[in-house]
This record gives sequence, C-alpha cells and structure tokens, in this order.
Amino acid sequence: MADGNAECNIKVLCRFRPLNNSEITRGDKFIPTFPGEDTVIFGGRPYVFDKVFPTNTTQEQVYNTCAKQIVKDVLGGYNGTIFAYGQTSSGKTHTMEVQYIVVLNNSQWNGIIPRIAEDIFEHIFAMDENLEFHIKVVTKTNLSVHEDRYRVPFVKGCTERFVTSPEEVMDVIDEGKANRHVAVTNMNEHSSRSHSIFLINIKQENVETEQKLSGKLYLVDLAGSEKVSKTGAEGSLSALGNVISALAEGTKSHVPYRDSKMTRILQDSLGGNCRTTMFICCSPSSYNDVETKSTLMFGQRAK
Ligand code: ADP
Ligand code: MG
Repeated sequence: MADGNAECNIKVLCRFRPLNNSEITRGDKFIPTFPGEDTVIFGGRPYVFDKVFPTNTTQEQVYNTCAKQIVKDVLGGYNGTIFAYGQTSSGKTHTMEVQYIVVLNNSQWNGIIPRIAEDIFEHIFAMDENLEFHIKVVTKTNLSVHEDRYRVPFVKGCTERFVTSPEEVMDVIDEGKANRHVAVTNMNEHSSRSHSIFLINIKQENVETEQKLSGKLYLVDLAGSEKVSKTGAEGSLSALGNVISALAEGTKSHVPYRDSKMTRILQDSLGGNCRTTMFICCSPSSYNDVETKSTLMFGQRAK
C-alpha cells in the first residue's frame, strides 16, 4: 500500500469471508481466486484494490495492515474514517465491530473497533505524563441530521460519553445499540437497513506547554448494499460512492459532500489530510455472485 502519500489518503481494501455452512450444504461454488496481494479474480474478471484479503485472513492481520496506523495518526491530530461496505452477511460487522468475550485472554476474533479501543489506551499509557486526554465516544444508528443556525450539521439523539478505558468504549456501543428504534423488532433486519456510525474523538493537552491537539475517527458499518433500492440508505450509499470517487480522482473543486446526511457528517473526516479506509466486504458464494460483482464495482469506482 502507498504510505505517506499526502495526495492519496484513501485506501480501498477488499475482504472475502469463507463460505458458511448453509452455503456449503446447498452446494454453492466458491468463486474468487486470489492471484496476488492486491487482486481478486471474480467471474473471470480481475478487480484490483490497495489490498485484497482472502478468506483465511485473520482479524489480527486485517487490523495490523489497515487500522493500526490510523490510530497513531488520530493520536497525532489527524481525522480519519473507516467504512465497511457490502451486502448483508458479507462480513461488515465481523470486520468492524464484533467483539468476542475474552476467554483466557484470547480475543483473536475481535474486529477493528475493540482493537482500536485497546490500542488507543495502550498508546496513551505509554505517552508523556504531561499529556491530558479527553476521549469522547459517540454512537449513532438512525441518522437524523440537523443544522444549527450557522449551518453546521449535527446528529440528533446519539449516545455520547467520555470514556477512560477500552471496556467503556464498548459499553457505549452497546448502549447505542440498545437505543435503536424500538419499532423494529428484528435487530438483524434493522442493522442491515441502517448505517451504524461510531465516533471516537480524542483531545489532548500538554499541561505544561498548554499545547492542544485533537483528532477524530469515524467507524462506519454501512447499511447492507442490497437493500439499496428498498430503503433510504440508497441515497447515502451512492452519495458516499460519489464523494469517495471524487476524492480518489483528486477533484479538489467539487466534492459532493452535501448530497447526503452521512457525507455531510463525515465531511471533515474524509479526503484532504484525512485517513480514509473503505473495506469492500464480499461473499465468495456463487449464490451471491450478482451482488458481489456490484459490490466489487462499487469498490473499483473508489479507486
Ligand atoms: P454483515 O455485517 O455484513 O451483515 P456479518 O459480519 O454479520 O455480516 O457476517 C455474517 C456471518 O458470517 C457472521 O456469522 C460472521 O461471523 C461470519 N463471518 C463474516 N466474515 C467472516 C470471516 N472473515 N471469517 C469467518 N466468519 C465470518
Ligand atoms: Mg452487520
């Protein structure tokens, strides 16, 4: 991956999950082949990304390759966003969020968010004693964006807390989920229809020099891409695609941030000097091949 390239801070990574049991039982075929680190061949066609993670990639490998550096950058005062895009059941939540209960200190299945939570506090404990940190976590599952009288967008009804440990970070996420709209009884159904946005905001101040630094990181588990025509998520996913591809092209004049609520919220954490990473999550099954192709195409547009 191109590192330290100020012009291109957008990375698009593609991850394939393994076939699951019901797919195997049904006799689905495993479609992708992985000829190189950055290429997947699917349905006879190559798709090239900054990096491709075949099905056997561990959560730790994913984290170390793509998220670890972003944590350092955010502690260094940069903003960033990590997205997961793909159809329902393609591995978005597994990649971003999932936290397995730590048994015998064995949390190798954890996704990016619990690892980020741990990493942040490890870094902080190792830093200069003169630094004072304020870490705020905000979760949002039903996007409802309002503008204040200066037309600055803000999100209504989110869960917001200051946190002092990785456990507290995960608690806020759980609380945010519990606050999801009660009218929807099926949680899976719900999470596949709405974007889940999680923000970690880190402010630091050197108590001796009074120097201040702040960085924020958005972590976004997007609505399932297959629902696109059936829900309001359609607009925001295609608007996101347009913003990312404009940024990837280096279009400085017009990036269409204002076309959706989500891109308005993320505006100061996308493009420019920000670190942006998009995971393109895919099913390997022949059963899903049409959706997978459209997911891969979405990812290619961002390249
Ligand atoms: P999504 O959030 O995109 O709807 P999930 O992350 O919930 O999909 O994944 C669907 C199922 O597949 C879950 O049971 C999850 O544990 C499993 N899964 C997803 N990705 C992987 C992977 N890389 N390795 C093993 N199992 C996976
Ligand atoms: Mg999910």
